[in-house]
Amino acid sequence: MLTTLTIISIFTEIFAAGIMLAGAAAFIKNYFSAKKLKDLFFGLVFFTFFLYVSATIASQMMFNLGTDLSALILLNKGIYISIVLCALFLWVFIVEKFNLFRLRWTYVIFVLLAGFFVYRILSSSVNLIYREGVVEPIVFFSVSIPIKPFFALMWLALAAASFIYVYKNRARHIILPLYLGGSALIVLLAMFFSFLYLRLGTAAYLVVSWVLVLVSALGFLLAELIPPEAPQAQAPLSFFRSRILFKLMLIFVLLIVILFETTTLATINISKQSLSKAIIANYQGAAKSLATKIASFSSEPSFAYLEELVSGQRVGKEGVAFVVDEGGYLVAHPDKIRAMQGENMGADEGVMRVLAAESGGGEFRNEIGSLMVGAYAPVAKFGLGVVVEEPIFSAYSELRRLEANSLLFVIVGIILTALVGIFFARSIEKPIKELTQGTEAVAKGDLRWHVATDSCDEIGRLTTAFNQMTKELRESQERLILSEKLASLGTMAAGMAHEIKNPLVSIRTFTQILEQKWDDKDFREKFSTIIPHEIERINRIAESLLKFGKPMKPELSKVDVNGLLEEVLLLFESECKKHNIRVTKKLADLPEVTGDAGQLQQVFVNIVKNAIEAMPKGGGALVVKTDVGEVIRLGKMRREGIKHGSEMVWGESQELEQPTPVIFIEISDSGEGIPEANLKSLFDPFFTTKMTGTGMGLPITLRIVEEHQGSIKVRSQAGRGTTFIITLPQKG
Ligand code: ADP
Ligand code: MG
Repeated sequence: MLTTLTIISIFTEIFAAGIMLAGAAAFIKNYFSAKKLKDLFFGLVFFTFFLYVSATIASQMMFNLGTDLSALILLNKGIYISIVLCALFLWVFIVEKFNLFRLRWTYVIFVLLAGFFVYRILSSSVNLIYREGVVEPIVFFSVSIPIKPFFALMWLALAAASFIYVYKNRARHIILPLYLGGSALIVLLAMFFSFLYLRLGTAAYLVVSWVLVLVSALGFLLAELIPPEAPQAQAPLSFFRSRILFKLMLIFVLLIVILFETTTLATINISKQSLSKAIIANYQGAAKSLATKIASFSSEPSFAYLEELVSGQRVGKEGVAFVVDEGGYLVAHPDKIRAMQGENMGADEGVMRVLAAESGGGEFRNEIGSLMVGAYAPVAKFGLGVVVEEPIFSAYSELRRLEANSLLFVIVGIILTALVGIFFARSIEKPIKELTQGTEAVAKGDLRWHVATDSCDEIGRLTTAFNQMTKELRESQERLILSEKLASLGTMAAGMAHEIKNPLVSIRTFTQILEQKWDDKDFREKFSTIIPHEIERINRIAESLLKFGKPMKPELSKVDVNGLLEEVLLLFESECKKHNIRVTKKLADLPEVTGDAGQLQQVFVNIVKNAIEAMPKGGGALVVKTDVGEVIRLGKMRREGIKHGSEMVWGESQELEQPTPVIFIEISDSGEGIPEANLKSLFDPFFTTKMTGTGMGLPITLRIVEEHQGSIKVRSQAGRGTTFIITLPQKG
């Protein structure tokens, strides 16, 4: 029969098996996303460990159900094979994890060694020794195979490798490897306790051993699942608090396991008690009836009759009834030879009781010290005693079957509830996760985010409110963009009216004198070249103005950046002329980039407009340059710029693995420059130093550039001028 402690340890095993399976799945999933070999092998370590634990549970259950020894032997061979594989994967993991690539050649040796072990396990015969109250057998292979020492050695290697790593990297990233090494030591400790249990048979050691395995599995999960650069790497235990899923699962699984554990323990114990009472009562009846039968004779019955009596008494599957005399010597026994030899049974506790003229029943030890279930009844009339006893193992076989069956039910129950629990917890976590992603995206400035929702609970309402909020935010931002655009349009329109006026004047003059000069051939030629030219000019200005004034429809297409710049410069041509600004273009041959032409035009308008506004009335120089190149950094930006002297960069953060082709757009002016103190607030919304400024030009510019995965660098010296350099990836 299983003791309460053994049952608790089985529950711990189930828990550990579940965590290992989950861990195996997590690591293998990581392998497929990050393609790091170490994850694959650690997943396999977890998986083979899981096989080991679940086969151990199965072996315990099967033993209790009275399964054939041959099946148990096969299962135990399986357990040992999974240990060998686990050790093998562990070694490969150590090499990959700590970059000991020079040791990769050892794989061959280890694979051969593991193959040799597996071959020996399969080909040798096995002796299982079960002892009372110990559910795990001592396993003897007919040939010696040092599997457990090999296994222990690998864990020791993992601990050593981790601690050496910690020692070498004292300053940083040491907490996770400490967890790794510590957990490996805990596995060793667990192995030690399981050894103690096997030797001494005290179930408490078994519980301690499995609790340690559980703790180490959690330690491994933390050490390997948390990315070393994540903030949680400094306090790994806080990882369990980092996801709602873990919290829900913890509550759910813990509750279920505790509930199941206590109820099954209680029911098993109650039914055990009543069943064992019934069995003992049954034996007591048998002993009493034998005693009365013997006492019913007037003189002591013959040896043959007594022999017939005890042989005819069925006592369970493997039990016996026998009769002793007042000295404790056998008078009758189903084993006739023992009876004839008059064996001394005085050491049997049942015999002791009956010799003390007691009658009753219970659990006691027989003459060789094995635990028995039985009963005894004296026959005072002839100075004899009847003892009925059966080894506890077979007497309680039904009980153990009941016990194993109810445990199996509980195991299945726990697995099912855990699965339902995971499903349930995930369904709660998923919308929260999406919402969190949404808020993070909005915080970074992406206002186009929409969180899909189909739930109508509090989270669903929160999501709807969130979507509404971002929509309003987006609209107000769009209005701001529009007002900034109107401001640019205002500036341009003033100059442009002037610009349109010139060709109009010349057209008017020409048409006025047309009538008089109709016959002049020269005039007619001049007229037909100049007038269409002037009209075309007006048309171009009107068209680009119209195009710029149209509301932005975000759409991606191939964009000719040089063409866009030309158009923007045309829009500002008259403005430049008016302020006496010399415009220089140095446009390199550019590949087309993917982007939103309207938005990029707005970017150039904003920067060119600022440049013109920065130049004093006395005039200046505006240089627009484009170029191609490669960078190793790109991407979404940090809000605060990165500073180098009087230069600041907005937007870069993502390091690339290989150089990425980009284009550069450089717009420089010889204007008043930007004081260093203003540089860092340059891109803040509403930051302006102008009387009629909106302060929205640059923030909008930055947002657009960010959306194109680009960055902006600003170099400026007060009094001497400013340069804006925009970097855009070629494959936007
Ligand atoms: P606004 O032009 O409406 O002021 P912007 O966001 O376009 O808003 O520019 C913010 C501020 O940045 C400007 O007010 C100005 O002080 C400064 N600035 C931008 N570009 C330049 C430049 N080329 N030279 C000097 N200062 C500039
Ligand atoms: Mg501006």
